Amino acid sequence: MVEESASTVDAPALDHEVIVIGAGVAGIYQIKKLTDLGIDATVLDANDDVGGTWYNNRYPGARFDSESYTYGYSWSRELLDEWHWVERFSPQPETLKYLEFVVEKFELRQYMQFGVRVEVMRFDESSDCWHLTLDDVRELSSRFVVMALGLLSIPTMPRIEGVDDFEGIGFHPFDWPHGGVDLEGKRVAVIGTGATAIQIIPEVAKEAAQLTVFQRRPNWAAPLNNSPIDDEEMDDIRRRYDEIFALCAETPGGFEHGPDRRGFYNVPEEERMELWDRLYDGPGFGIWLSNFAEIFMDEQANAEFSEYIANRIRDRVDDPVLAEKLIPTDHGFGIQRVPLETGYFETYNRDNVLLVDASETPIERITPTGVQTTDQHHEFDVIVYSTGFDAFTGAFDHIDIAGVDGEKLRTKWADGPVTYLGLLVSGFPNMLMVPGPQSAVTNFPRGVEVAVEWATPLIEHCRSNGHTRFDATAAAEQSYFEEVVRWYQPFLLRKARHWATGYNSNLEGHEYGKTRYNLYNGGGPKYLERITDVADAGYEGVEFGSTG
Ligand SMILES: Cc1cc2nc3c(=O)[nH]c(=O)nc-3n(C[C@H](O)[C@H](O)[C@H](O)COP(=O)(O)OP(=O)(O)OC[C@H]3O[C@@H](n4cnc5c(N)ncnc54)[C@H](O)[C@@H]3O)c2cc1C
Repeated sequence: MVEESASTVDAPALDHEVIVIGAGVAGIYQIKKLTDLGIDATVLDANDDVGGTWYNNRYPGARFDSESYTYGYSWSRELLDEWHWVERFSPQPETLKYLEFVVEKFELRQYMQFGVRVEVMRFDESSDCWHLTLDDVRELSSRFVVMALGLLSIPTMPRIEGVDDFEGIGFHPFDWPHGGVDLEGKRVAVIGTGATAIQIIPEVAKEAAQLTVFQRRPNWAAPLNNSPIDDEEMDDIRRRYDEIFALCAETPGGFEHGPDRRGFYNVPEEERMELWDRLYDGPGFGIWLSNFAEIFMDEQANAEFSEYIANRIRDRVDDPVLAEKLIPTDHGFGIQRVPLETGYFETYNRDNVLLVDASETPIERITPTGVQTTDQHHEFDVIVYSTGFDAFTGAFDHIDIAGVDGEKLRTKWADGPVTYLGLLVSGFPNMLMVPGPQSAVTNFPRGVEVAVEWATPLIEHCRSNGHTRFDATAAAEQSYFEEVVRWYQPFLLRKARHWATGYNSNLEGHEYGKTRYNLYNGGGPKYLERITDVADAGYEGVEFGSTG
């Protein structure tokens, strides 16, 4: 049923009232909301179909570390009743199927255009509209643009000489070939040991003749403890959906795992150990997010807990020297997003798996036949560059965006993002991010729903009040930025070499120490309260205007 909304604005001859860029979790929900209101909108995506993250990352082992039933959309009872999540942590093919199902069920494909990359965006101050240039040379215009670009949608390749010289097959996991890769009998290298590599390595080891992992810095990781969801359990989940989403809305991370509020130092060591045993052997992010808050803030508490996890790793790796190599020493557990794994540490007990410590023997170059380290040459048929993402701002930087007075977003964000509420950028009117950097990055769809449900009424507000333009004030933006910076201070995360601080050794300007304040660290509930207060106060910090 289409709900009509009153528009008092006589739009100039624009191609669309709203253009949404991106057809992932965020873009799908955004177009649903807009078209339900009868607003003329289109979605543009560079990919050939829907799904974003779940369309691209098809590597073996790709799956959620969010409980599936907390990741799905919450806004349609019918959808919740119809969809059966088959595993507690859904694998990529199933998640992609889910997003395709949503798009078909709500007949959203008619509003989507694929295989088109937005390259340039210019704000026209005389008519308060955006002009977009696409890579198929088309130009499109719209009053509003919603950026649903993804915060992890631009992969980074390593800055190692010779990558193009390799004569075997080499790719980033984001670009894992859609038809799969036959690894049987192959010599495979995985470069990197981040969250993606930790999912890939156990799977590749089962298939390849030889797997060599190049590790520069180990990452902490904990067991996923996945399990199937049968009909009976799914029925129970369906009955509890309201309760589950209410719980996600209460926890800082948007998961069903909430912190243990007893206080680290109030709980005797023996009880702490019991809790940790239970969490380590339990599913998902419990070990990270159902822990004591002090783990994230207090060096001593963090060190004690990190030692607990180190011992669990030592129990799982046969060779004690190798075990020590897999235990991080440059950061404590949980100050970076914790990768969840299935048999990762045991994989190093296999005869066909070799760990190369690239901190001791750095990679010098990729050669036509393999990898040359300072120590030796390794021959490979396949090289997987699991070297992360240009996180948070990468997809924005890849579009040449100019706002008021021709100011470039890239320039404004050269040292890191500056936003109002993670949703708007001052000087870039009529542009919304769902979500953008400096929002509360939680269990993702929970944050996406919050952002879309804030953005859509703002568009509605403009339409019903005859405004052709909104823009965040510089003062409101500055004050929000200072708030974001303050939220870094209590947390050990402020020291992380991780996307939370913008660190990426493969990107210029992302060196350690040049902190980029990418996240709102106050948690989901505080963030929601903050942005709701702004809307309730008539969009405090936002100026409206009309071309008259
Ligand atoms: C391997 C992996 C595992 C993850 N696991 C989890 C998890 O378990 N739980 C969780 O909460 N989050 C997880 N995430 C984060 C994940 O990105 C989000 O959950 C979610 O999928 C993001 O949806 P999105 O719509 O915001 O962005 P995306 O899914 O990234 O979609 C953005 C879309 O925008 C398009 N786009 C970007 N720029 C342009 C342009 N210039 N022109 C046209 N189109 C453009 C892209 O092609 C893409 O399709 C994971 C991410 C990765 C990479």
